[in-house]
Amino acid sequence: MKTIIIGGVAGGMSAATRLRRLDEQREIVVYERGSHVSFANCGLPYHVGGVIAERSSLLLQTPETLAARFALDVRVRHEVMAIDAAAKTVIVRDLTTGATSTEAYDDLLLAAGATAQAGATSPGMPTHTLRSVDDVDHINAVLGQSGASAHVVVVGAGFIGLEAVENLLARQATVTLVQRGNQVLSPLDPEMAGPIQQALETAGVDVRTGTTIVGASAGFVILSDGARVRADLVIEASGVRPEASLARSAGLRIGPTGGIAVDARQRTSDPSIWAVGDGVEKVDHIDAEPTLVTMAGLANRHGRAAADAIAGTATTDAAPALGTSILGVLGLTVALVGWNEKRLQAAGRPHRVVHTHPSSHAGYYPGAQQMAMKLLVEPETDAILGAQIVGRDGVDKRIDVIAVAMTAGLTASGLSRLELAYAPQYASAKDPVNLLGYVAENAKTGSTRSLQWHELEAAMATGAVLVDVRSSAEYQTGSIPGALNLPLDELRERHTELPDAPIVVHCQVGQRGHTAARLLSQLGHDVRNLDGGWLTWSAGLLAAANRADSASRVPAIR
Ligand code: FAD
Repeated sequence: MKTIIIGGVAGGMSAATRLRRLDEQREIVVYERGSHVSFANCGLPYHVGGVIAERSSLLLQTPETLAARFALDVRVRHEVMAIDAAAKTVIVRDLTTGATSTEAYDDLLLAAGATAQAGATSPGMPTHTLRSVDDVDHINAVLGQSGASAHVVVVGAGFIGLEAVENLLARQATVTLVQRGNQVLSPLDPEMAGPIQQALETAGVDVRTGTTIVGASAGFVILSDGARVRADLVIEASGVRPEASLARSAGLRIGPTGGIAVDARQRTSDPSIWAVGDGVEKVDHIDAEPTLVTMAGLANRHGRAAADAIAGTATTDAAPALGTSILGVLGLTVALVGWNEKRLQAAGRPHRVVHTHPSSHAGYYPGAQQMAMKLLVEPETDAILGAQIVGRDGVDKRIDVIAVAMTAGLTASGLSRLELAYAPQYASAKDPVNLLGYVAENAKTGSTRSLQWHELEAAMATGAVLVDVRSSAEYQTGSIPGALNLPLDELRERHTELPDAPIVVHCQVGQRGHTAARLLSQLGHDVRNLDGGWLTWSAGLLAAANRADSASRVPAIR
């Protein structure tokens, strides 16, 4: 039996090595059109910044090491040009010699990944994606020529774009970040993304949202808002689409997302052809619809699963995709899972929102750092629809706990009952995930009614009275316009001073507000707690200001 694998990185190489472990007799040939196989694409930005100092660290395997250990026939610089599904052959071009050949297979695995979205072409302007070792070599060459004064425009404020920005700053480049949408990191909701834009700007990045590159002239790029921005180099990171062209030409079924359609065992519409990775559509965990999630974990997992299926040993179907992802940028950690509120709103799906701002570990133990958490919950079932966390320490494990909870079908309230590891330097006796569960449970039972940051203005316009229950010292450092200050500890005695009107209470993060809301509601007031308190409201305001700023930006040369 002979298996041909197209693409020799995440999904393809996981499949190849797994298949060898399952079947010693099979002939396994991997065609990779790039110069390197099994390289660390997720590490590429960090070689630009010098964090991964040695280029060789990115090259995890070579055709020789894979032949020695796994008896794989790996051909780099070999591009598969076409598939003849009826004849069960592929046409392969050796990119070094230009020679083409026709190769037969019994099973074929497509692991050709994704293609970068084409940006505006800029004649005379070095423009590179950040997807291969060759790309990094080109970027490093331009940066080397420009010295410490390089001006770089990064297009796309997604995960790879922000990783590029961080590493360019480490190279002392002057960075402009251009984003077509009206916020950075569009997988986040705006109030969660606001602080990230602020951190970028504080670090000296010129963030330009609501615009894109439309052209270039010597040493400058031209943006759609008319601005001219100095540039020695453009890094194109504005997104990817599935590499499905071979599959389409071969007559395989392409799904509604543009990705290759596969069944739960990674088999395409042709029974001898399998597909995995960024080129393939997945089943969404929330609505069970086809979706695109371009992450390494899924590519690796599905590569392994495809090998099991090809070898005839598969016993389980692929789990739906959650989209769990994480990013480190400028000391911040940003993590998310499931759907965001924008997507829920667009789909018209009912949802409840919870914001919290817990500490990474016990506040009395040195080094605790605050994080912002957002949980999205289906009101009818209490199911977790998504979560976003922005902070520093401890973000990674909280998002993973929530991802596990979603996979296991735990409810939002159920997070409060998880028994999680605690010692003061790692967590709190009530872990941030437990706290999220408590707040979700309070919302579910109706013991506290909350109001979101973007609902406050309308509530106050219709007569609600805003009461800031923080201390007067906190109130003096900044307050929401129109708020009365009535500190929590005085509320029991002074609540009669409150007007006979709907009350909205708020504190710094929502916790004292919850206590105030419980107290006032038991004293007969109609009261809601501003979810996430001052911090979430401020972040929302910041996001709104960023959007307004991008809308009103005047053309400028930088
Ligand atoms: P790839 O790993 O991209 O491999 C596809 C290969 O197929 C390519 O090498 C390509 O040259 C080859 N190919 C395509 N067409 C042909 C053909 N016709 N013939 C021969 N070969 C062909 N994901 C995370 O989860 N976390 C991260 O931190 C993360 N960081 C990333 C950072 C960067 C800079 C990049 C680029 C990606 C990152 N990703 C990350 C995404 C992750 O790398 C991908 O989801 C994953 O590699 C997809 O695996 P794949 O096998 O589908 O495609």
